[in-house]
This record gives sequence, structure tokens and C-alpha cells, in this order.
Amino acid sequence: MKNLEGDIMGIIENKIGSVVELCDDPTPEPAGIIIFGASGDLSFRKLIPSMYKLFKNRKLIDFYILGVGRSNFSDDDFRNKVLESLDFKQDVVKKFIEHIYFLSGDYDQDELYINLKEKINILNKKHNTKNNKLFYFATPPNVYIPIIRHLGKFDLNNEDENFSRMVIEKPFGNNLESAKKLDCELHKYLNEKQIYRIDHYLGKETVQNILMMRFANIVFEPIWNYKYIDHVQITVSEELGVENRIGYFENTGLLRDMVQNHILQLLTLIAIEPPASLDANMIHDEKMKVLKSIRRFNVDNLDEFVVRGQYTDGYINNEFKKSYIEEVGKNSKTETFVALKLLIDNWRWSGVPFYIRTGKRLKKKLSEVSIVFKDVPHSIFSDFYPVKFEPNALVIRIQPDEGFKLILQAKQPGSKICINTLNMEFKYRNFFDYEPQDAYERLILDALLGDQTLYVRNDIMEESWKLVTPILERWENSDLYYYPSGSWGPKESDRLIEKDGRRWRNYENI
Ligand code: NDP
Repeated sequence: MKNLEGDIMGIIENKIGSVVELCDDPTPEPAGIIIFGASGDLSFRKLIPSMYKLFKNRKLIDFYILGVGRSNFSDDDFRNKVLESLDFKQDVVKKFIEHIYFLSGDYDQDELYINLKEKINILNKKHNTKNNKLFYFATPPNVYIPIIRHLGKFDLNNEDENFSRMVIEKPFGNNLESAKKLDCELHKYLNEKQIYRIDHYLGKETVQNILMMRFANIVFEPIWNYKYIDHVQITVSEELGVENRIGYFENTGLLRDMVQNHILQLLTLIAIEPPASLDANMIHDEKMKVLKSIRRFNVDNLDEFVVRGQYTDGYINNEFKKSYIEEVGKNSKTETFVALKLLIDNWRWSGVPFYIRTGKRLKKKLSEVSIVFKDVPHSIFSDFYPVKFEPNALVIRIQPDEGFKLILQAKQPGSKICINTLNMEFKYRNFFDYEPQDAYERLILDALLGDQTLYVRNDIMEESWKLVTPILERWENSDLYYYPSGSWGPKESDRLIEKDGRRWRNYENI
């Protein structure tokens, strides 16, 4: 018996061993990374720490990072700020810092770009970066167009043997019209292969896992359709309010901030047909088909499908939280909560509603997708259990506690008809000895590798705006519902799902 166990362990180790090679990412070509808006929150909190991790893991070897902004920083000032933000004292940080520079100037003035070109040439020689450039747009979006026009004017957009790619932060536009305008401007100077529209949700390990789960296993596909699935729920909730991003959020709202991008992207991964390969365009083509199949909202009957809310004051974890209006300091109709019911009019999803809810200052922070299955066609237990069992569900937890679980009914020790609900649960942290890769680390590496799979193609961005823009327009003349901080949103959100005889998953004991 011992030998047999040993053999089996050997086989498993070999199997895992062969997979491990694929688990190590390739090393990208040498490149300079130029961050516009480098003195901002995103840069210090996410971008530079992610680049530091890539450096530590030897994915950045011949490279430089050039911060650009209006701040009057010298290279040393910027390096000191980076040091503070990294909060590491190891020697490796000192080595990393030697690759970092800053250039200050005004985005509207040619002078900045003349200096930029000159500095890029110097750094390119110094760090052997083969004139490859990755530009990261991390300024407020109103500056994107002046920057791209100037990059075009000074030939910094051109590719020859080298690459010149642009990562564009969200929000990509504010509605369909502005998104199209920005896209049109980008396409005057760049081809689509140079444009990386970021949606950091797509860089999350568990979001990438949706494709693996669906298409690397045979067990799900036969039941992944209207015959077996009753409905799908997506919940993305935050305990946090708008914190220090009030100015941004007040002009944006949650539909634009969460639904138009992150949640629709999640939904497409759940709903797409199997692509023929992992090729970025094949996946994007399938996503596009899903988006095009989503039934358009009847704006005259919007309440049937959409609920928007705003938080009032209340308690979260026994701590008092102010209302949104108090935080903004004025009357506002900006939504901090959205619930939606979507229908996908295609063969696979006919009649299967997708319920979505997302909000700030809700009771718990979590992001989860639940695939809720139908009941068995005939229950032989109904004489003993007049109440329906909890339905089978596959629950994909994106955060926290990344993993998934399968909810089943199973025999409980006791009498021969004793049944109970069983959660077969897999948590990444119990299985893999891993520190989850930050989404930005994944996405920056992919942009350097020239892999657009986890980025958003222009037609997909446009189609998502087409879906939500009519809602935004209708909301300009309508009221919203209120909910206390620390709740699960306005009661109208419960009504949205309960009128269909369903309910939101219960997160009270999680
Ligand atoms: P910030 O407001 O911190 O701005 C970034 C930098 O841009 C500032 O440090 C400033 O640098 C420069 N800047 C600010 N206002 C202007 C202006 N009017 N004209 C020119 N430059 C300006 O933004 P964040 O770092 O928070 O975000 C950057 C981008 O990333 C935004 O588009 C945001 O929507 C997006 N984003 C941010 C996230 C986050 O967590 N912070 C998450 C997801 C997306 P200087 O004064 O030196 O020029």
C-alpha cells in the first residue's frame, strides 16, 4: 500500500512539475516605462509597487521608469517618494531605485515633449531598452487627448523594430459619445495593437480562473446553459464609501465606475461560448457576441430592471458612517448602489436572468459570482421535506478568500432520510503556497509582453457604453432610493429579484 501511495505521489509530482514551467511568465523585452501622472495615488499605491515586484521577480531587467507630471520633482525627489511608498529597506530596492527618473512640465506645452524625447533617448542608451516604450496614462482623463496629440506630434507613437504601447486608465470616457471621441483620437496616432485599455478586474487571479474553470474541465460545459442554470448572481460590495475620491466619484457614479467596465467584463466571462483558442482576439470576439446579445433596457420601464441607490448614515462594524450627502457637502443624485437584472437573448442563456448588485458602504466587502442551478425535476424527498432544498450553486469568490465552492445536498449522518446542505469549498490560500499577484502586476507584465487578452478591445468598450448610456440619460430626470450604511442596499433591490421568486444570496454568516 505504501509503495502504491509512493508511486501515485511520484506521478502527481511529475504532473505538477511539468505544469510549473508554464506557471512562470516569460521575461518581456527591454523597455522604458513612462508614467504620466506619476505623482498620483494610483502610481504610488499600485503601479510602482507592481513594477518593483516585477523587478524582484526578474521580469524587469533592462528598463527604466520615467515619471512625468506637473510637480516640480527632481529625479532624487521622486526616488525618495518612491522609497517612502515602497516601505522596503532591502538592497534590492536600492537597485530598483537606480532605474527611476522624473520629468516635470505642462501637458499642453511642446516643451515637455521635446524634453521627454530627449530624456527617453538618453535613458534608452543608458538602460539598453532598444527604444521600446510603454506609456502609462495615469492622469485625470481630461488630459489623455492633449498627451496623445503631442506624442503623435513628436513621433513618440511610432513603432519600427521597437514597440510603443499606451496603457489607458479608466474611466475610458464618461458616456458613449465621449468614449468614441477619445477612441477616435487615439486611433489617429495608434493602431489597436498599441492601445491597452485597462480594466484591473481582468488581472485578478480569480477572474482569470473563470476561463480555466469553464474551459479546462468537461464537467461544467454540459450544464452551463438554460436547461440547468436557473439564474446567475453577481455581487460586488464595498464597506468603504467614496473616501478621498469624492471629486471623481461625484461626476462618475457607480454605474460608470463598476458596471460599465468591471461587472460587464465579469459577466462576459461567465457567459461566453468556448473560444477556439486562447488568442486575445478570439476571446474578445466571443465577449463581443455576449454583449451584443444582452437585451437593451426599456427606459420607459427602467424600474423593472434597474435600481439605483445612495447611502445615508449608519453603522458598519459598530462604527458610525456619515451619509454620502454629508460627505460631498451638497445635495447629490449620484448613485452609490446599483442593482440590475440583465437578460441575454441567445440560445445558451434564454430566460436565465443575471442579477447584479454593487454598492458602497454595504455590510461586507466581497466580490462573488453565483451560478444557481435549477431544482431536480422530481424530488423523491418531498414527502419528508415539504420545503424546497437550497438549490445547487457554484459560487466563485473573487475576493476576499479567493476560491470557489459547490453547494450540494448530501446525506447527513443520522436517519436514512437525513439531508443537509454541503459546501464543498476550495480556497486558494489553503491549497497553493502563494501570495496573490496584484492585478496591476499581471497587467503591466502583459502590456510589456504585448498580450492584450486581459485588456479591453475598442468594440467591447463601445458596446458596454451603448448598454449603459440610455440608463444614465434617463437617470438625469429621476430619483434614487436611499439605504442606510451597513445594509445590503435599498429594499427595492430585494424587490427586483424577489418579484421573480428568487432572493439574493445570504451573506450574513460569511
Ligand atoms: P490623481 O488625482 O492622484 O492624479 C494623478 C496625477 O495627475 C496627480 O498626481 C497630478 O500630478 C496629475 N494631475 C491631477 N490633476 C491634473 C490636471 N488637471 N491636469 C494635469 N495633471 C493633473 O489620480 P489617481 O492617481 O488616483 O488616478 C489616476 C488615473 O487612474 C485616473 O484616470 C483614475 O481614474 C484612474 N484610476 C485610479 C485608481 C486609484 O485607485 N487611484 C483606480 C482605478 C483607476 P502632477 O500635479 O504632478 O501633474
